[in-house]
This record gives sequence, structure tokens and C-alpha cells, in this order.
Amino acid sequence: MHVADILSSKGYEVITAAASDSLATALALMVEHRVGAVLVLDAQKAIVGILSERDLVRALHQYGRDAFERTVGELMTAPVITCSPRDPATAIMGMMTAQRFRHVPVVEGGRLLGLISIGDVVKGQIEEVQAEVDALRRYISL
Ligand code: AMP
Repeated sequence: MHVADILSSKGYEVITAAASDSLATALALMVEHRVGAVLVLDAQKAIVGILSERDLVRALHQYGRDAFERTVGELMTAPVITCSPRDPATAIMGMMTAQRFRHVPVVEGGRLLGLISIGDVVKGQIEEVQAEVDALRRYISL
């Protein structure tokens, strides 16, 4: 299974924000779309950072209520590590575990194709294993 397979089953939509957006705007996007991170793009649609729930926790710890006066650009993490649609799912799982993050944008030829989370990767792996189990069961019962 490759990243392209995961994207084709979960979809290509990416929830994005601008660095000038307020933290409150980014939180509203996360809640509305039920995602744990927003990708931060500039006016040319280039990736400039990522803001996840973890960054929110860090900002609240660091700034308290004043975090809400800060912009996404001040609180996001950069640079962002991306992957290719041709990367194997197992390699991305390993990378997420080693680097301790749960979101990876998918980029090809400089173009943003989508974003996968650890949940999407695990779901894909479980489905693949289940398909193998089903095939073996069918084979045994022939
Ligand atoms: P997460 O586990 O994805 O919620 O993120 C944990 C930390 O890693 C947060 O500071 C995120 O902004 C950051 N982060 C998440 N995904 C990436 C990525 N693909 N590249 C760089 N940093 C990331």
C-alpha cells in the first residue's frame, strides 16, 4: 500500500489557514472540519507551516489566555515535512513514529495533493491485513 492508495480512499481535501489568521480562526476550522491540524499556506499556495492540537497546547502553556491574541504564523511549526504519493505507507508510519507527529502533507512536483494523518495510515493498513485474511480464509475453505 502506498500514500496514493490512502489518499484515494480518504479524499484530497486539505483544511488550510493563512499565517495572518488568528488562533481562534484556526480552532474554528479544526472544530468545523473535525481535524487535528491545519496546513498553513502563503498567498501563492506554498506550504509555510502546520498548526496542530499539540501547538495549541504548547501555546496555551506558554502564553495562557494571551495565546488567543497571537496569529497562526506565530504559533505554527515550520518547516513542514512532506511525503510523496509514491511513498510506501509503512515508511510514512515509521517516519510519523520517529518524528512524533501525526500529519503529513502529500506533495508531488511542488503541488499539494492532500494530507494524511496517522489515523488514515492505520485504517489503510488494517483494511489491507483484513483483505489478506479474507483471501486466505477463502483459499483454505476451497
Ligand atoms: P501532531 O502529532 O501532528 O499533532 O503534531 C505534533 C507536532 O509536530 C506539532 O508541533 C505539529 O505542528 C508538528 N507537525 C505535525 N505534522 C508535521 C509535519 N508534517 N512536519 C513538521 N511538523 C509537523
